[in-house]
Amino acid sequence: MAFRFASSTIVAASRGVSTNLAPRFLTPQARRAFSQSHTRQQGHAATAAPAPTKFTPFANSARLRDGRALYQDVWTIFNSANLPPECINLGQGYMNFPPPKWARAAAVDALDVTEGNHYAPARGRPRLRKAVKEFYGTQFGKELDPEKEIMISSGANQGLHAAWAAFLCPGDEVIMFEPFFDLYLPAIAFNGGKPVYVPLHPSEEPVPGRNVGKQSWSIDFDELRRAITPRTKMIVLNSPHNPLGKVFSRAELEAIAQLVREHDLMVISDEVYESLVFDGLEHVRFATLPGMWERTITVGSAGKLFAATGWRVGWLVGPQALIDPALAASTRIVFCANTPMQEAAAAALEQARERRFFENQLEEYAQRRAVLMDAFEKLGMEYAWPEGSYFILLNISRVRWPEDYKFPDSLNGRADDFKAAWFIANHIGVSCIPVSEFYCDEHMHIGANYARFSFCKDVDTLRTAAERLQKLRWHLS
Ligand code: GLN
Repeated sequence: MAFRFASSTIVAASRGVSTNLAPRFLTPQARRAFSQSHTRQQGHAATAAPAPTKFTPFANSARLRDGRALYQDVWTIFNSANLPPECINLGQGYMNFPPPKWARAAAVDALDVTEGNHYAPARGRPRLRKAVKEFYGTQFGKELDPEKEIMISSGANQGLHAAWAAFLCPGDEVIMFEPFFDLYLPAIAFNGGKPVYVPLHPSEEPVPGRNVGKQSWSIDFDELRRAITPRTKMIVLNSPHNPLGKVFSRAELEAIAQLVREHDLMVISDEVYESLVFDGLEHVRFATLPGMWERTITVGSAGKLFAATGWRVGWLVGPQALIDPALAASTRIVFCANTPMQEAAAAALEQARERRFFENQLEEYAQRRAVLMDAFEKLGMEYAWPEGSYFILLNISRVRWPEDYKFPDSLNGRADDFKAAWFIANHIGVSCIPVSEFYCDEHMHIGANYARFSFCKDVDTLRTAAERLQKLRWHLS
């Protein structure tokens, strides 16, 4: 099996944007050019507007349009800076507690020596690659070779970007399940790929003693099979899943592996929430399934493991034939990830086992999860049972707001979940993330029924949020 290594040629893909609002930060000329290019995209007659020049931002950029980068991103709209100061942030997934002190100390030590302030090798600091190798031990079914099978990136996001830059040829189809972590779409589009979406489907199982059933989301394998074409290059997996909290079962992953073998595909397995798997469930590393090591790049993140999302340290693990091209791309994108935080990540990985860090962290997260689940249970609102990660997907389709409620312009053209989330943040005082952002345009109406709440906050904060959320009962249809 040989994968073709591709340059990251940019092509115009066929998807259009679904709002005709030009971003507000554009100049008036750029706004007109944007509207004109957008109108054309929608198949209407173009309105008169000056022709874009070489210096008109965005006007001709299929790459930004197809990557949804002409919209304001959901993280910015629902950033705490745009919400009332007293609003509790359960939106963007970052913690209100720090990474462990013993890990932070390593960054301080690194800054105190000259070398710690300079470039790391593009592949990553040797100490961190060794720590990654030792942390995983034989979890990949073999010991990892830190010289060949591990690459450090500037956060998992940049690792993904490098992998797609390395492997996508123009028009290559990349299958992902919906809902999907929003970054996949732009990163694939920017690198010339064509995202193909396979929706996951919710089902409800009764739970004794609870008002709300256990909602779990599953794959329709016929749908997945139908999505595969001769242009399919790879499948993107994400387990534990953001935003569903789903942990894919061994049986599901084996069935996917079967299709991967049959159609000679590559896999990107985003496992950044690997340390947060609840209820004694098993985190199955896709790369360990028969024949999958050779085809899989696994993505990890120090930010998620150690409550350090701002460190921007992640890694790719896989066979040399897949890591080398990703490294070649990464070297030309950022050259290297930042040095002192790589040292902190290394120290964290080195000491985590001995300190029982992950066991304790998982217990704390289980308590945090319970606070939010109980709040939704009391409200009688349906939610996806979070088997892993720190997200709960809540069905908000019954939330109603006054007809004259004022919404900001940034919500124009967005699905109703944006309005519900805005209303909840401003009226109830708890922010969340509207889930239509995690769907393609065609399936956005499905996502519009849901909002995602993060429980990566201390228990007291979550209790206050849970109390506030009870007021939602007055706003349900
Ligand atoms: N992964 C985090 C989340 O889903 C943050 C994403 C981001 O800020 N781009 O909340």
